[in-house]
Amino acid sequence: MIDIQIKGDWCKGCYICVDVCPKAVLEIDKEAWLKGFHPVVVAHAEDCTLCRSCELLCPDLAITVTKGHH
Ligand code: SF4
Ligand code: SF4
Repeated sequence: MIDIQIKGDWCKGCYICVDVCPKAVLEIDKEAWLKGFHPVVVAHAEDCTLCRSCELLCPDLAITVTKGHH
């Protein structure tokens, strides 16, 4: 089970992570608001390949992807 953590406090809503994920795991939550923008949500965690592109390319170090303990 892969664990994808998004730190809302650090995210600035640039959506680079949404764009770079090759599996469309991350989505913009159009229903919710966070500090004046829509937050990023983990919509399809089961499709994550642990490539860590989102983690590496987030300019604000707001994403951490780890292999869980299951
Ligand atoms: S790349 Fe980082 S700062 Fe940009 S939307 Fe994703 S989590 Fe937020
Ligand atoms: S680690 Fe790769 S596959 Fe998983 S959410 Fe991030 S960019 Fe997408």
